[in-house]
Amino acid sequence: MPISDFSNALFELAQAEQLRTRRLVSSPQDASMIIDGERVMSYASNDYLGLANHPRVVAAAIHALKRYGLGAAASHMVTGHMQPHHDLELRLAEFLGLPKALLFSSGYAANLGILTALAGRGDTIFADKLNHACLNDGAVLSRAEFKRFPHNDLKKLEALLGNAADARSAGRKIIATDAVFSMDGDIAPLAEMLELAERYDAMLVIDDAHGFGVLGYRGKGVLELLNLKNERIVYMATLGKAAGGYGAFVAAHEDVIEWIMQTARTYLFATATPPAIAAAMLVSLDIMVEDHERRRHLRTLIDFFSDSLKLQYAKTPFSQTAIQPIIVGSNANAMAFSEALRERHMLVPAIRPPTVPAGTARLRVSLNANHTTEDVFDLVTAITDIEVLLLGQNVGQGVGQRIGHNPT
Ligand SMILES: *Cc1c(COP(=O)(O)O)cnc(C)c1O
Repeated sequence: MPISDFSNALFELAQAEQLRTRRLVSSPQDASMIIDGERVMSYASNDYLGLANHPRVVAAAIHALKRYGLGAAASHMVTGHMQPHHDLELRLAEFLGLPKALLFSSGYAANLGILTALAGRGDTIFADKLNHACLNDGAVLSRAEFKRFPHNDLKKLEALLGNAADARSAGRKIIATDAVFSMDGDIAPLAEMLELAERYDAMLVIDDAHGFGVLGYRGKGVLELLNLKNERIVYMATLGKAAGGYGAFVAAHEDVIEWIMQTARTYLFATATPPAIAAAMLVSLDIMVEDHERRRHLRTLIDFFSDSLKLQYAKTPFSQTAIQPIIVGSNANAMAFSEALRERHMLVPAIRPPTVPAGTARLRVSLNANHTTEDVFDLVTAITDIEVLLLGQNVGQGVGQRIGHNPT
């Protein structure tokens, strides 16, 4: 009986403490939220600039809802491509200084679309082992050769590129990487990867879901932080994180964008996002550009959190982004830590395998421009107290060990 297969599989997940549950949120997204009926301070969302419930962003959505209605009712290629979508694409390209941008309904759909459009049988995709799931899924779906290199390992990447160059296939080569790794918060060596892309005649697909809006003085993500400019770059980012809304986009050379538009199945066969979302994202982008104070405050919080923990756990943390992981090893440790924080009305999710490699279960702290310095101070204090408590109870070794290297 097939159903018992699922029941047994679920039981095994539960045994391995890998069963996930959802929390019910009954307030807007913010630093302080009502989660499962209780007011808590949230250090969990990707709303890094605190724009998900920004009055101007919400007002723009309401205004557009009245003007354009709710649904886009068709794909972009039929009649779903509406004025706010169009304006947003132009604005994104202009903001980033890239020739052209194309909207997708989500980051997941964008990466599936980009990789399947750029590569196929006979081509090769080179990917970091810690890449986001949707880059992996896109690579598999593309039917290209899929070669993964250890996290941020340029030597291995170069060796793989060299082997491919020697092979008989003269197919396209695509290097695909997260810009900011979503579970570690570290940044890929993109300038060096670009050099490799030049040397081996490859394209570089960059997923900047966690850098867009956050990194760089103007918020242009890794492009600005690392001063990257090159026709080989295919830049992708989401609008559901720092932009506080929903959707995603890819920006690159005109012909690359045109090709993706003509061939990406997740673009062609999907309904366009509601136009009000695009209209709201235009305002979100305005705030992102004008309001340096938000980014500056977030930067202060990041430095404060990261420096506080560096002092406590000699091992140097290295995340200069809003994602601040604390590796605690076992799933049970991660759960105990997260629950102890929850008792103090602080929400910090425990991230367990298979989302992260086995034995590297962690707390994943996400900072948000709507947190005050005091909110972050409280969190640091709580983490310190709880660690003593857990260690006192002999829960395990390695609790609170920070990432000082890149786990592969
Ligand atoms: C969140 C995320 C995505 C997916 O974006 P959605 O818009 O949520 O589908 C893709 N890549 C990375 C690195 C992400 O963190």
